[in-house]
Amino acid sequence: MNRPSYGYSAEDSPQPDQQPTCPRHPDRVSYVRCKRCERPACPDCQRGAAVGMLCVDCERQLNRQQASTRPRNSMGGAMTRGAPVVTYTLIALCVLAYLGQMLAPHIVNQLGMFAPFRALVMPWTFLSAGFLHAGILHLVLNMYALYICGQYLEQVMGRWRFAAVYLISVLGGHTAVFLLTSAASLDWFGGTLGASGGVFGLFAALFIVNRNRGAQTTQILVLIGLNLVITFTVSNISWQGHLGGLAMGAAVTAAMFALRPRATATSDRQALGRRAALLHGGVIAAAVVLCLLLVAGKAVMVGML
Ligand SMILES: [Zn+2]
Ligand SMILES: [Zn+2]
Repeated sequence: MNRPSYGYSAEDSPQPDQQPTCPRHPDRVSYVRCKRCERPACPDCQRGAAVGMLCVDCERQLNRQQASTRPRNSMGGAMTRGAPVVTYTLIALCVLAYLGQMLAPHIVNQLGMFAPFRALVMPWTFLSAGFLHAGILHLVLNMYALYICGQYLEQVMGRWRFAAVYLISVLGGHTAVFLLTSAASLDWFGGTLGASGGVFGLFAALFIVNRNRGAQTTQILVLIGLNLVITFTVSNISWQGHLGGLAMGAAVTAAMFALRPRATATSDRQALGRRAALLHGGVIAAAVVLCLLLVAGKAVMVGML
């Protein structure tokens, strides 16, 4: 018997042939045991925890259990913590685009503005026009609304759902402009720009989110009403874009709530979150396809396709 003694004499351990070894590293003797499963763990497999030393397997198992019971947002997604980065990013993009418009107005407006007659050959304008503005007041009003709605909705809906609702509302707004503008009118050749379609989409999302959470909705209805009055009384405002954004934001947010999987006391929150993400990704995809079909239909009607 020529084993290393590790400070223990043969009298101390009744079965010297069965020294405790790490289950993951059978060649390493370890007298330190995991607080949870009580198996020996070598220094490489020891993990410090609040309750004492855990082995690497127990640590992993506990992490997984914690993840499956972690609270989810009202859409079933992971809770968003920290600054509303999507909101800030959208605002930064609009401000940058506005600087571009001031530095090179012809180039930026020509490339980014949405105009029905050229929408099919410049399909990016369905989104890019949502980042351009007609003046500093237009920019400031839209960015203020985006900031107020965004920081709340981004927390409640989660980052990517919020970004998706915003962008799909911009797309919906320009789709409505394309659908509801007569190809025989001058407007067919006129340009549309502004984040208003997206902002109206957020107004609608705000209403539906608060209704589903049982929060008050009167203020939002007043806000939407006021903005609709402005839309229809001030000339030079694209009412089609505003209504399109409003309808799209409402439809997509309502569909997300309707399809969200319900949590029960025993359900695995992580699996639930994955199912919600899949369903909600499907909602967004369906909305994009709907816009494409509507645009294609109108294009065929007016002989563009
Ligand atoms: Zn353990
Ligand atoms: Zn080990």
